[in-house]
Amino acid sequence: MPETTPPFLPFARPDIGDAEIAAVTEALRSGWVTTGPKTRAFEEAFSAYLGGGGLQSIAVNSATAGLHLALEALGIGPGDEVIAPTLTFTATVEVVRYLGADPVLVDVDPVTLNIAPEKIRAAITPRTKAILPVHYGGLACHMDAILAIAREHGLKVVEDAAHALPTTWRGRLVGQLDSDVTVFSFYANKTMTTGEGGMAVTRNPALAERMRVMRLHGINRDAFDRFTSKTPAWYYEVVAPGFKYNLTDIAAALGLVQLQRLPQFLERRQHLAARYQAKLAGLPLVLPAEAPPGDVHSWHLYVLRLAPGARLSRDALIQALSERGIGTSVHYVPLHRHPYWRDRYGLAPEQFPQADAAYQAMLSLPLFTAMSDAEQDRVIAALHELLG
Ligand SMILES: *Cc1c(COP(=O)(O)O)cnc(C)c1O
Repeated sequence: MPETTPPFLPFARPDIGDAEIAAVTEALRSGWVTTGPKTRAFEEAFSAYLGGGGLQSIAVNSATAGLHLALEALGIGPGDEVIAPTLTFTATVEVVRYLGADPVLVDVDPVTLNIAPEKIRAAITPRTKAILPVHYGGLACHMDAILAIAREHGLKVVEDAAHALPTTWRGRLVGQLDSDVTVFSFYANKTMTTGEGGMAVTRNPALAERMRVMRLHGINRDAFDRFTSKTPAWYYEVVAPGFKYNLTDIAAALGLVQLQRLPQFLERRQHLAARYQAKLAGLPLVLPAEAPPGDVHSWHLYVLRLAPGARLSRDALIQALSERGIGTSVHYVPLHRHPYWRDRYGLAPEQFPQADAAYQAMLSLPLFTAMSDAEQDRVIAALHELLG
């Protein structure tokens, strides 16, 4: 008998069950497929999940769209600067460029890999208007320090919470902190998915109103309102040159089910992360920072770093794992190494020693709710074989 190779273990896979399929089917059969009752229900359920308290949720077709709407609503424009970490996905800061403003990239903390508050402080100029922290991998940034800097300098704060559902900072859920807007992602590999989608949340009614209007062409009524309210359906007013960022009811139907499953998803991620933490200790690795006692890490990502003196380089380790049928990824090639950001702002790796060193040593292991303990054991065994 030839030895059977186990199936390839991907780095991430969405967890979509029969309930999601039934909900999407129902949305398709309902006769209303674009933004409508399911999207409204999803927004309400999302606000309730985060604990309500005057929070408004605005569903959008991506977190990128949500970040763009948030900065637009805050009045960010040409000449303004927005401070963000270099160790993130390009979406975090491409939206700053959409508005003609300039991102100012800064280094990260070497332990948490989150934006370093002292680097924010050092990057402030008279043009600085906002800070864009990213809760890297699902571990909260030091929000007390960031919000204190923002208050001191009159800056806005928009949290890129694409990884942070659910994450807490000092016992409060990200989404309920004292920033201006928080934006979540429901992209395929995030902690819950709508295929593509996102949610902007805020407690500021004026920002919520502006984001709602700009989400749909700058029209002051959405299609569902037009077809359900007493005002004639044909009448609407354009009050700004808006965007086309609304979420479909098909996606919202999927999101409603995923949101209900989120506590169970979190439990599974916590279980898998704890197993990695326990079973990889002792190898020449820097394991990811855990949340402070009492706080929640969403464990969207499980990011390892090779310790100095490890037998293999990061690239060789990724290759060897791939040959053993194990998918990994790297989060992220820091923005200062991408041609557009590097050349436009004259950036060099020496300006970001922590993020750059972390990048060269890092890889993200498979971590997804549908991964079995046995599948995870294959990853753990391979790392012991290759590095032990
Ligand atoms: C996924 C991601 C985004 C973008 O999310 P989309 O919903 O795909 O637009 C933004 N920032 C970070 C850090 C992400 O990981």
